[in-house]
Amino acid sequence: MNNEVSVTAVHPDIERVLVTEEQLRKRNADLGAMISHDYTDREVLVVGVLKGAAWFVSDLTRHMTCDFTVDYMAVSSYGAAHKSSGVVRILKDLEVPLEGRHVLIAEDILDTGLTLKYLIRNFLGRGAASVEVAACVVKEGAQEEEVDVKYEGFVLPNEFVVGYGLDYAQRYRGLPYIGVLRPSVYEGE
Ligand code: 5GP
Repeated sequence: MNNEVSVTAVHPDIERVLVTEEQLRKRNADLGAMISHDYTDREVLVVGVLKGAAWFVSDLTRHMTCDFTVDYMAVSSYGAAHKSSGVVRILKDLEVPLEGRHVLIAEDILDTGLTLKYLIRNFLGRGAASVEVAACVVKEGAQEEEVDVKYEGFVLPNEFVVGYGLDYAQRYRGLPYIGVLRPSVYEGE
C-alpha cells in the first residue's frame, strides 16, 4: 500500500486557494464541538441550504455529538451568473414542521445576507423556538442585510469564490478547497 500523502493539484481555473482542505477539516471540528456544547440539552434541526451547503452539512454534522436531525431547503440565488440577483425563491421546502423546534441553518456562504434574512424570518414565522446560523464562509463587507452568524467558518474578502459546495454555473462544487476563480472563466458571459 502506498502511504505517501497525495497532494491534490489545484484546478487550472483556480487563481488562488483561500481555504485549504486541512483548514476546512479543522474548522468544522471546532464548529461541531461548539454547536454540540450549545445544544447539549435540546435537539437541534440542522437545515442545509441546497445545493452549496450540502458539503458543509455533511462534514460539520460528523463532528456533532448532540442530538440532531437534518433537513434541506433549496432556494434560488445566483442562477448561472456570478452576481446576486437579490431575489429569494423557495425551490424545495422542508419536509418537517418547525413548530417548537430549535433550528440551525447551515449556509455555504453569507454574501448580501438576503437569503439568510429571508430564511430566518420565514422559520420564525413557522413557529421555530429558536433559529441560529452556521455559515462556512462570511464575505467581509458584503452584507446588505444584518445577519447574526453564531457559528462562522472563515471570513474572506469580498470576491467570488468556488469550491467546497460553491459553484460557478454548477461547476467546481467538488473542489476540496475554496478558491478564487480566474476572471477569464466568466469574462464574456
Ligand atoms: P446572499 O443571499 O447572502 O447574497 O447569497 C447567498 C447565496 O449566494 C449563497 O448561498 C451562494 O449560493 C451564493 N453566493 C454568494 N456569494 C458567492 C460566491 O462568492 N461564490 C459562489 N459560488 N456563490 C456565492
